Amino acid sequence: MTDAFTAPSVLVLTTGGTIDKAYFDALSAYQVGETQIGKLLETARVACPHEVRELMRKDSLELNDEDRATIAAAVRDATATHIVITHGTDTMTETARVLGDAGGKTVVFVGALSPARFAESDAPFNLGMAFATAQVAPPGVYITMNGTVFPASSVVKDRARGAFVSR
Ligand code: GLU
Repeated sequence: MTDAFTAPSVLVLTTGGTIDKAYFDALSAYQVGETQIGKLLETARVACPHEVRELMRKDSLELNDEDRATIAAAVRDATATHIVITHGTDTMTETARVLGDAGGKTVVFVGALSPARFAESDAPFNLGMAFATAQVAPPGVYITMNGTVFPASSVVKDRARGAFVSR
């Protein structure tokens, strides 16, 4: 008989991206709104201990060096060693690079190409993949998109295909 698995506590840091976008009528554009991540985890009845912490609400094309330093500091200062970061897909690999080896923590970046508020969004599936990967992957920085767990250092977003591919 194998030992029972004790799920580690997972910290989810939200930074924005399409996964959290909403339509603001007055502006006639999709913008990052209140984070949907807590709601997605609640809907999935996630029982593994977790905390959702909102860091910022930005499209990842608007993230600057200061924002990336904030994300890196949040990872570094966290007592949690299993971390999910929700992030826009356009510059996810750039932010991942700033984390280096994440100080021996397991960090998983994830986003969605369609807002979590949409019925046919990839958000619930992608977040589930990230949440699972954060619990079981060895220390390192990963990106879980398109049903695949990629080491962050060997993946790129293929904009034309709307998918992440190994490089
Ligand atoms: N510009 C968006 C971003 O990177 C692309 C879509 C997405 O969020 O994945 O934030």
